[in-house]
Amino acid sequence: AKRSGGNAAQFFEQSMNQSAFERLVLENELREAVRDDQLVVFYQPKVRMEDGVVEGAEALVRWNHPTAGLLSPGAFIAAAEESGLIVEIGDWVMRAACRQAADWARNGLAVPMAVNVSAMQFERESFADSVLEILAETGLDPRLLEIELTESIAMKDPERVIEQVQPLRDRGVSFAIDDFGTGHSSLSYLTRMPFDVFKIDQSFVRGVAEDHHARIVVETILAMAKALKLKTVAEGVETAEQLEILRAEGATLAQGYLFSRPTPADEFEAFARNGNSR
Ligand code: C2E
Ligand code: CA
Ligand code: CA
Ligand code: CA
Repeated sequence: AKRSGGNAAQFFEQSMNQSAFERLVLENELREAVRDDQLVVFYQPKVRMEDGVVEGAEALVRWNHPTAGLLSPGAFIAAAEESGLIVEIGDWVMRAACRQAADWARNGLAVPMAVNVSAMQFERESFADSVLEILAETGLDPRLLEIELTESIAMKDPERVIEQVQPLRDRGVSFAIDDFGTGHSSLSYLTRMPFDVFKIDQSFVRGVAEDHHARIVVETILAMAKALKLKTVAEGVETAEQLEILRAEGATLAQGYLFSRPTPADEFEAFARNGNSR
């Protein structure tokens, strides 16, 4: 089952074009990966628009594959979802990210930690309890945890979403809607939902400088956020021009390669401490 000398790109291509057998091999390898500590969490900073000070981190999982090298979620999240392994992986990432954030907070770097949660993980009956258990176990202040749900998860069943979100929100955990703008949430729906942050989808951020349509979507999201008193994160910011427009339009935080790629914990820490001392 082991590939020799493969690289991540090759592996990715294989995983995009899989036979049932290859899918099974990938699933088994993924199971091993969880068991043998091959997963790692990278962190990407979110910075304040005005001065670049780091005000948050997003935890993004990577797979340190024994032969293929470092793999991005695109190469394995689909298989993880299909096999149900995403629940175990998600819990593992939540625990690792909370432990890291608690450790940083104890050492004078209290940055809110954002963790992505998949539909299968969120829809479990025990979701809120499992998060509370991880918070207790790691000692992380719940106010330093932010959970990112995609707009499609957040819109599926309003009653159920509120049930899952409220117990955590009562303790101070915040909730962000990821990839915002790609779904069809109405303003009236959003006024009733317990969310704290909109993350403007990269596709609109990418187009904001050239594309009239993207610009209008961004302006509309920012106006909605303002009316609802929510924070906004522009993700996928790659150019100074995009940043300038988003800043002028009043977005709260920026995240993207312009500042930093997702990196191992020590690199994030160095970046955040430098930013903070400015
Ligand atoms: P996402 O949550 O929308 O995360 C943002 C993605 O955009 C990340 O890709 C990040 O590396 C990338 N990105 C950030 N800044 C830029 C930029 O300036 N330019 C470009 N082109 N890309 C940028 P990544 O790490 O490959 O993750 C892809 C997706 O995998 C994530 O999208 C998220 O949906 C999923 N994912 C990652 N980690 C987890 C996890 O622990 N659990 C779950 N359920 N999903 C995860
Ligand atoms: Ca995210
Ligand atoms: Ca996103
Ligand atoms: Ca996305």
